[in-house]
Amino acid sequence: MTEHVLEASPVLRVAGRNSRDEVLNVATSAASLPVVAVGSTGLSALEPLVLATQNRQTAFYESCTPQRAADLADTLDNGELDIEDADAVIEHASTPTRLPIPDRSPLGVGTRTVLGRCGWLRPTCPNDYRASGGFETLTADGETVVGAARRVTGRGWGDAMADTSVGDSWKRVIDADGDPAVVVNAHGTPSDRLLLESLPFLPLEGALAAAQIVDASDVIIYLSEADNQAHERVTAAIENLPQTNAAVHAVTGPDEYRAAEPTMALEAIEGSQRLEARLRPPQPDIEGIYGRPTLVHTPRTLAQIVHATSGAAPTRIVTIRGDVQHEATVELPADGSLATAREAVTVDGTFKCACVGGQFGGLTPDLDIAPTPDALGAAGVGTEGVIDVLNEDQCLVAYIGEQSRFAQDENCGRCVPCREGTVQLTDLLREVYDGSFRPDAIEELLRVIESSSICAFGRDATRPVATGLDHFEDEFAVHAGGQCPTGTCTTELQHEVSQ
Ligand code: SF4
Repeated sequence: MTEHVLEASPVLRVAGRNSRDEVLNVATSAASLPVVAVGSTGLSALEPLVLATQNRQTAFYESCTPQRAADLADTLDNGELDIEDADAVIEHASTPTRLPIPDRSPLGVGTRTVLGRCGWLRPTCPNDYRASGGFETLTADGETVVGAARRVTGRGWGDAMADTSVGDSWKRVIDADGDPAVVVNAHGTPSDRLLLESLPFLPLEGALAAAQIVDASDVIIYLSEADNQAHERVTAAIENLPQTNAAVHAVTGPDEYRAAEPTMALEAIEGSQRLEARLRPPQPDIEGIYGRPTLVHTPRTLAQIVHATSGAAPTRIVTIRGDVQHEATVELPADGSLATAREAVTVDGTFKCACVGGQFGGLTPDLDIAPTPDALGAAGVGTEGVIDVLNEDQCLVAYIGEQSRFAQDENCGRCVPCREGTVQLTDLLREVYDGSFRPDAIEELLRVIESSSICAFGRDATRPVATGLDHFEDEFAVHAGGQCPTGTCTTELQHEVSQ
C-alpha cells in the first residue's frame, strides 16, 4: 500500500469499536487489496461500517457482517465497486483528508470539524495523520497558538478550566515558578474516549503544542483503567509521535467517576491510594502535579485548540445515549442546538426529557438549547457533553433519588457540605416515598451544598434534584400521595430505593 491510506485506491476501510475485528479479519483473508482498520465514526448504529474506495468513489456499507465484507472485498479485488448493495455512494477528490459524508446519514448531523477524520484514518499511523494536515500546530507561530487558546474554553468535567478561557491558564503556568507539566485528562467521558481511540494524534498534537508554549518537559495522558482500547491506541500513538522536547507518558487511574475531577486526577497520577480533591487556591496551573505548574485539559479542549489555530470556529462534541437504540457522538456548531443531536439516534419509546451534562446533569424536557456554556448554564444543565435520553417509562423521582445516592456513596468525603449534605438530601428524597415531600427543605439544602462544596462534584451533584424540582415537581407530589405516574415504583422498588 502507499505510505498513507489517503492515497490508497482501491482500499477497504473497516470502521468501528466493537465487533470490528472479525469483519476486518474475514475481509483481509478474502482479498489481496489493502483492508485497513480505521477508528470509530462515533455513530455506533452504523458500525461495523465498511467503506470501499476506488476511482474517487467511496461506497458505504452499514452494520456490515463478516460475510458481506468478504464479498465486498472480493468484488473490489476484481476491479468493481458494489454500488447496488451500498447504503450510500459518494464521489470525491482523489485523496480526501476526511470522511466523506453522505446525504441523509446520521454522519451528517451537526458538523464534523474535530471529528472529521474519525473513521477515515488509521488511528495510530502518523503518516495518515500528517497527510491529512496533522501536526501543523507544532510548527505554527506561537502567537497564533496562544491566540487560539484564548478563544477556546475548557470542555468537560475533567478540565481544570471548566468553561473559562484556556489561554488564561497557559499564562499563569508561564508566569509560575517551577518546571511546568501538561496533563491530558481523558478519564471517563465518551467523547474523549472516542478521540483517543479514533484520532489520538489530535489531542496529542494539542498537548505538545501547549507544552511548547509553556515550556513543559512532561505530557501525561491520564485515562481510566477500564478504557483499555483508548490506552492501547494512545500508547501506540505516543511511540509514533514526532520528536519533541517533552516526554509523553500514558497512565491510568481508578475507574471511579470522581477520579476525573482535575485535582483528584493529579492525586491518582501521583499514586495516592485515597482520592480527595485538593483545596484551591492554589489552582493546578500554579501548583499541580508534584507541586509543578500544570495545565489540566481534556482531549476535547486540546483538539479544539488545534482546530482554532487553523482558524476554525469552536464547536461542541456531544454524546447522546440512554433510552436510545444506539449511542451516538456528534459535533455541534456553537450556534446550533442540542435538539439536533436527537437526529443521530432513535429513541426507545417516547421522549420524556433528557439529563444534560453527564452523571450530575440537569433535567430538561426541551433540548432546544445552544451548546454554549452560557446557554447551558442558563438552562440549568451541565456542560460535560453528554445527553442521557429518558423515555416515558422513566420515573424521575427514582432517577433523581439514584443520582443523589450515587453522590452520597461516591464523594471523596473531604468536605462536610458534600459528604453530609448528600446523605441528608438522599434522606429527604426517600421521605417522599413515606408521604413527606418538603420542597423548601430540599431547596435550602441544595443551596448549602452548591455554595459551599470544595469541588465541582458537590456543586454539580445538586443539579439533577434542582432541575427535577423545576420541571417535574408534580411527580414528587404524586409520589408523596402514594402513586408513581409511570408505574415504575412498585413496592419492591420503593423498598430498594429506600435502602
Ligand atoms: S465536594 Fe464532595 S467530592 Fe469534592 S471535596 Fe467535597 S466531599 Fe470531596
